[in-house]
Amino acid sequence: MEIYLDANATTPVLPQARDAALSVMADAFGNPSSIHGSGLKARARLDEVRATARRVLGAPGGRLVFTSGATEGIQTAVLSALTALRQRRDAGQPIPPRLLYGATEHKAVPEALKHWNALLGLGLEVVAIPVGLDGRHDLAWLREQVRSAGLVCTMAANNETGVISDLDGIAEVLRGSGALWLVDGVQALGKLPLQLGERAIDYAPFSGHKLYAPKGIGMLYVREGAPFTPLMAGGGQEGALRSGTENMAGIAALGAVLDALEQGSTFASLSQLVDRRQRLADALRDAFPEVVFNAPFDISLPTTLNVSVPGLAAKLLLDLFDAAGLRVSGGSACGASKAAPSYVLQAMGLPAWRAASAVRLSFGAADADATLDEACRRVRACGESLRATCQMPSPNDTPQAPDLLTRFSVDGACCYVVADVGSRRCVIVDPLPELTGTLTQWLRCRGLTLAAVLDTHSHGDHASSAQALRDAVPELLAEDARQGQVDPLGWPSGAEVIALGAYRLSRLEVPGHTEDSTAYLLHAGGELVATFVGDTVMPGALGRSDFPQSAPAAFASSLKTLERNVGLGGLLLPGHDYDDRFATTLAVECEAQPLLDGVLKGRLSAEAFAIEKGVLERDLAPTEYQTMACGARVACARSAERVELDVAGLQALLGEGADPKPVLVDVREAYEARLSPNEALGPEAVPLSALINALPRWRALPADTPVVFFCRSGNRSAQAARALRRLGHARAWSLAGGLALWPEGSASLAAGARSNPNAGTTTGVPIAFDAIAI
Ligand code: PLP
Repeated sequence: MEIYLDANATTPVLPQARDAALSVMADAFGNPSSIHGSGLKARARLDEVRATARRVLGAPGGRLVFTSGATEGIQTAVLSALTALRQRRDAGQPIPPRLLYGATEHKAVPEALKHWNALLGLGLEVVAIPVGLDGRHDLAWLREQVRSAGLVCTMAANNETGVISDLDGIAEVLRGSGALWLVDGVQALGKLPLQLGERAIDYAPFSGHKLYAPKGIGMLYVREGAPFTPLMAGGGQEGALRSGTENMAGIAALGAVLDALEQGSTFASLSQLVDRRQRLADALRDAFPEVVFNAPFDISLPTTLNVSVPGLAAKLLLDLFDAAGLRVSGGSACGASKAAPSYVLQAMGLPAWRAASAVRLSFGAADADATLDEACRRVRACGESLRATCQMPSPNDTPQAPDLLTRFSVDGACCYVVADVGSRRCVIVDPLPELTGTLTQWLRCRGLTLAAVLDTHSHGDHASSAQALRDAVPELLAEDARQGQVDPLGWPSGAEVIALGAYRLSRLEVPGHTEDSTAYLLHAGGELVATFVGDTVMPGALGRSDFPQSAPAAFASSLKTLERNVGLGGLLLPGHDYDDRFATTLAVECEAQPLLDGVLKGRLSAEAFAIEKGVLERDLAPTEYQTMACGARVACARSAERVELDVAGLQALLGEGADPKPVLVDVREAYEARLSPNEALGPEAVPLSALINALPRWRALPADTPVVFFCRSGNRSAQAARALRRLGHARAWSLAGGLALWPEGSASLAAGARSNPNAGTTTGVPIAFDAIAI
């Protein structure tokens, strides 16, 4: 059962609201403008709902217009205010030069201000009102600026943090200023007593779907005497304030919600909500002892918790909660698909890591108490899952064994851990400063001995964090890995190879990108497993060689050296991977990169290669990540290539008599899989962070064997499918929409999947095949 903790994004529709909407659609479907019986009934209901809304909002006077939602209400309010300003200006009167809005306002407000300001040709300055650390408007600033404002927009409560604005304080500052005042009441409806009629608020938009009514219905309150310009002209409905036949199903449903609010039995009381928030906050503290709450409880809606956990990215927390069946969101719903930090938390001046890793849990006032108990239980289970998989400190002394290779990546830069379970020794290649904490935790939890911390070269875009990492875990450092015993790239002085149980790491000098560029070759017995090539060869690019510390003339011969030692087909693990391709080979890169192909096939001399490469790098732009581009990308990701397979497509692959059977691979991380073992569809669990372990195995499958990856939403599995295709296995697919779109309650699927007898170690938990339903 999923538990919905994203009520600030939208809510389900209350049963009585559904009934009301259905009855309007089925029986009382009249047009309220018609003067026959059906129309009169509709009109009566419309008037009733408006009257209830006036009581709930404490707005006996003024106008109350039904709209399609808050965004429309905001447009109407802004258009009205700005049209009035323009009329004054056109009449030759001076008008204030600015439009002010709270820095944490929903985007609908500043965007509407900019839009109508431009469209009406006003050319006013649109300025954000700063907020303090507590998320509240800076009233001293406002007091200084208010005389320059024609319109001031301040939301009643914030959608990301739940912070409640000091409306009385703002009213005090605005008094006598002449500025019009817009208060976005969306998140406050039903949660705060707004008493609109007692305040000098000129406009207050609302949205039904944030309070258990359907999407597509909203209201706009306009104070008596406040300027009004209709957004929609036409048949004159809503007293010509908003033309267009009324959304009677939506209005009836909203009416049912407002009735329930008035009656008071459907929604929890304020004190019950405060108690629920306390329980949820306690569960979060138990699960993540270092959790920080991004808004003060005493001035926030009790239904909203905005949290950050040091060391845990928002993406990780979202995936984790989702696997536990808890639907939460990162920042606001509109911005949730982008990985951008929350502008709300940034505006509050919270540290960057908190703004970037924030997660919002928001419950509804109509949720059952037992639902919240279950949510708390699951939150605690999330914490346990992270501890069991070494993502957080754990008292558990039998942590999960690591894979041979684990990849961490930060904005396209890659760091690898090579760990041998038998000897408990590991090596870290290209540590990144952002990962020191994560790696420290990862190593300590598993009690691994750190045989070396290696850099593939002295980096141009960041300082090596090898020493910081060594300093962080002195107790885990092997004797010969200590400072003074290693060369500048971290290699133990005098050592030929680094032994990790049955594995051996050797090094190969490949000057070019930098003079000290070095590749590390990982062998198991006599076999080459993988090569860490740093930035010498990356997916789609060769490392740039225009740094002061580069050796451009040596690059060509280093590539040949690499080919001699690893072959055309040997797996290369790059130092940067901007397009999530995970691994590559010289053969794959020769196809994509004519320069590389030219030099390896002998068509280009070392000199010609250096000249052509120099041309390619002349105007090298920074990457999209604003780090220094580490190579000229000549082959960009083929992200346009469709790798998605829908459920019907997968059923066809698994169907009766289908041959060969597909390999189904769950690429979710182990901490997710632990939380939802029944969701597993196939015999293999290979987390994306360990994908590189399995790539050689899948590449070796017969060409006609389909490999179908799946994850929570289809994003990570698409990366895996693209990576495998690029390495030559054309029949690699990603389950479109992932488990989120997986139909429930149909026949078992996994029996149809091919089990892979050679599946290597993965951090995945054993998977219950028989528990799968489609
Ligand atoms: N204002 C606030 C505070 C909101 O939370 C939202 C929705 O997220 C809106 C405005 C826009 O509402 P709608 O998309 O329903 O028009």
